[in-house]
Amino acid sequence: MPSHTPPWYADRLKGSADKREFKIVYHVTHFREAVRILEDKTITGQLVPSRSRLSRSRVRVCWLMPNQYLDSHFGHFRLSLDWESLSDNASFYWIEHSSLPLGSAPRLLLVKDGWEPRNLRPYSPREDNGPLTLNGRTWYSSAQRRCDLLVAGDIHLSDCCKLDFVPHSKCQKFGANCPDKDQENTEAGSHLMASAVGNSMRSSRHVFLEVGGAKLHRSAGGAWGWVKEELKPKMGGGSITSKHVAADALVNAVLIAYAKRRENAVRSLCALFSGWDEAEIVLERRLKAHFRLANSR
Ligand SMILES: [Zn+2]
Repeated sequence: MPSHTPPWYADRLKGSADKREFKIVYHVTHFREAVRILEDKTITGQLVPSRSRLSRSRVRVCWLMPNQYLDSHFGHFRLSLDWESLSDNASFYWIEHSSLPLGSAPRLLLVKDGWEPRNLRPYSPREDNGPLTLNGRTWYSSAQRRCDLLVAGDIHLSDCCKLDFVPHSKCQKFGANCPDKDQENTEAGSHLMASAVGNSMRSSRHVFLEVGGAKLHRSAGGAWGWVKEELKPKMGGGSITSKHVAADALVNAVLIAYAKRRENAVRSLCALFSGWDEAEIVLERRLKAHFRLANSR
């Protein structure tokens, strides 16, 4: 295939100095979508906005990018995926260069099921001089600029290796109306951790654990610590101890209320425990049971 670079990308190339090796790509999203991903066990593909060349095809896509940022424009919740396995046997197509309020980016479509979009030109990562290149088995993307990788269809949660929590102060999707604004990343993560444990979302366990599954990864551990710090001053006043038959169910109810930010319900439920010491025993018991952890986490 002859090398091809569309005019809208050619004038943005900066040569080999702008290449960065990568192995992981990211899907970054907001709280509601993150909960839905854990519940559905799937990153569900979405229709592309009408201003895109892809919108007429009605194809649903998952948005990924190889870039990491100190401050995410897309949400607090970052899923990591192994690019080599995701891109195995995939076909690529040029889509367009997007222009958005918080920065423009080239867009490439990745297709794995043999479907061929009629109005898009194929892109070869080995031959073409674009934002994504492949040399041997090593993938490169631009070090300077975001690149949007749109994967046709859904992505199963089992293909995601990690979910962590990143700073998010400016929002590309919702602007000033971002539903997750004014939260630290660890605080945002604490609500998702509470939802996962309280609702026993077992299929999502692996994304909160270190490789090998022996303990929570650092970001998840910090978020769980935040949950406990938030609940600690509210616990006590009642008679429920860690030995009570309903103690675990009560902690689940507390975590679900906390995840949904129902402050009054959290206070009412926490007040049923005899005190923090007993409540903490149950919280740790629930955490270890949910993540199948040994005594140290
Ligand atoms: Zn946002």
